[in-house]
Amino acid sequence: MFCCQEVGDSLNEEQIAPIIKEIKGALPEVEEDKIRKEIERYLQYGIEMQEAKRSIIRKFGGVETQFRSVGSITLKEIKGEGSKFDLVVKCLSASERMQKTQNGDKMLVSGLVADASMIRRFVSWDGHSLEEGKAYKINRASARTFRGEVEVNLGSFTQVEEAEEGALSDLDTDALPRFGTLKEIKLREVRPGMGNLQIVGKILGVEARNIEVEGGKKKIFDGVIADETHRLRFTAWHDFDLDIDQVVTVRGAYVKEWRGIPQINFDDRAQVTREEIDIEPVTTPKMRAEELIEAGASDVLVEGTVIEVRDGSGLIFRCPLCNRALMNGSCSVHGAQEGTADLRAKIVLDDGTGALFAILNTEITEELLGLTVSDAIRKFQSLDQSDMVALNKVLLGKEFMLRGNVIRDDFGPTVLPSSITPVDMDCVGKAREILSDLEGF
Ligand SMILES: [Zn+2]
Repeated sequence: MFCCQEVGDSLNEEQIAPIIKEIKGALPEVEEDKIRKEIERYLQYGIEMQEAKRSIIRKFGGVETQFRSVGSITLKEIKGEGSKFDLVVKCLSASERMQKTQNGDKMLVSGLVADASMIRRFVSWDGHSLEEGKAYKINRASARTFRGEVEVNLGSFTQVEEAEEGALSDLDTDALPRFGTLKEIKLREVRPGMGNLQIVGKILGVEARNIEVEGGKKKIFDGVIADETHRLRFTAWHDFDLDIDQVVTVRGAYVKEWRGIPQINFDDRAQVTREEIDIEPVTTPKMRAEELIEAGASDVLVEGTVIEVRDGSGLIFRCPLCNRALMNGSCSVHGAQEGTADLRAKIVLDDGTGALFAILNTEITEELLGLTVSDAIRKFQSLDQSDMVALNKVLLGKEFMLRGNVIRDDFGPTVLPSSITPVDMDCVGKAREILSDLEGF
């Protein structure tokens, strides 16, 4: 039951990427863009995908060996992406779903398959549909990794036929592992992109929320889970009857991120069990720069010495339309603007393990300087750079404890503190002294 790619069809990125990768495997020298153009051209002419792949490889002088199967393996033996393999599996579940893509609606078939070694999820964008309860002989399947879990991909190269009578008829699926090897992990070690995790934590909060999904509304559950090491936001895509103060083990969790801050996710494939033990959740964890380079965090403490007060700190003027800081009276989007005065500081801290960038908001900067924004206008506006002098005096070379979220962008970790405390409490007094010094300006 081999199904052809619909003729004249265009593919979305999720479909075309693995095809390019496949062809690239046989043609390592050829640029991806070239391969992409060729695929699009062949599809435009209504050439069936499998034939198109072969032709492209032949055209560029590649050898088709990449498309040969490595032979029969078990589900457990499948590793990451790469080669083709043959399987004999029993279909435990299968569902078809129209998925909206950039190029219109596409049918996605997905479900679970099992052999004597384990259970894995399978997907097909190419029209292979398996029937629950039946055993299949699958040739030239490939692997893909989704949410950190290895899945069986039935592509246009894959052949699916029913297995001979009696194959896998005595398979006891209840006894099979649901996932590959689960990784047991403390919450503090969780990083974006991880999957197949086993975590134990206490539910500190949980709230139901309705979201729009394909085919109607879905109730999901957002909350906070904590252990002795860390606290993370989570989303449960299935009703596991979670409640505050429960200690649970989640098997099969995966990690998404929001601005670099890891968030635990788990869906109906996961297993959630309640534990009798209690956990003393960490209050506000203190994090080091070296940890935050790998992942952001919400509501944590960082401590370090200010090694730089960056340009753009002090008294600034913001665009009244978009709040961006004006450069020489001009917004990068809205042009010349009157500008609303504000105080802020962009600093770099060193904590001995690395550097952290931090943006101090209006309230914190006002507090550090002992000046309100309107005080600062009076004091600094007519003077060149004296606001930077004042900030350098208050901050530079001094040690501070910051509490807040740490997000990540291209520049690395950025602390957005909601509060800042001098580690040497004398600093507060010194700030006042500085203030009186500044009267001399
Ligand atoms: Zn603007």
